[in-house]
Amino acid sequence: GKAKILVSACLLGHAVRYDGTAKPLLHPLLARWQAEGRLVTLCPEVSAGLPVPRPPAEIEPGASGVDVIAGTARVLEKTGGDATAAFLQAADNALALVVRTGCRYALLIDGSPSCGSIAIYDGRFEGHKQPGEGVVAARLRQAGIAVYAHSQIEDLARALERETQG
Ligand code: SF4
Repeated sequence: GKAKILVSACLLGHAVRYDGTAKPLLHPLLARWQAEGRLVTLCPEVSAGLPVPRPPAEIEPGASGVDVIAGTARVLEKTGGDATAAFLQAADNALALVVRTGCRYALLIDGSPSCGSIAIYDGRFEGHKQPGEGVVAARLRQAGIAVYAHSQIEDLARALERETQG
């Protein structure tokens, strides 16, 4: 069968982001994969019970998703709350879904404290990004899932093509 791909729900137009918006990726590859039935859609944060809208959250300064998983850093809300447990649940939910559906690839929106895979905000709520990955991306990578940022959709297409050619 054709390889399945886990996709951030907000990339597919679901209005599930912290501010109640979506961030649709209008790309012919995504439309094609959707038509081929390859896409498995998830908003990990909403799956963990977080509401829409919700306070913006960032991983503590200097840390990344792997540190949150290791228990050495927290995910904090701008309003002061500790969202670590929900973000860990979000990552567990994403992992359970890829296992259940047989996804070995993920296309996630970059910059998010969950879905970011190249860059995340620096934890100071000042709008600055730094290299790093969110909790979901880190968890999936630990499990061997090939995680691509939305800006890398063409790279993902090439990887799928290589797989088809065996
Ligand atoms: Fe989008 Fe991921 Fe944030 Fe959900 S957790 S809104 S899918 S970036």
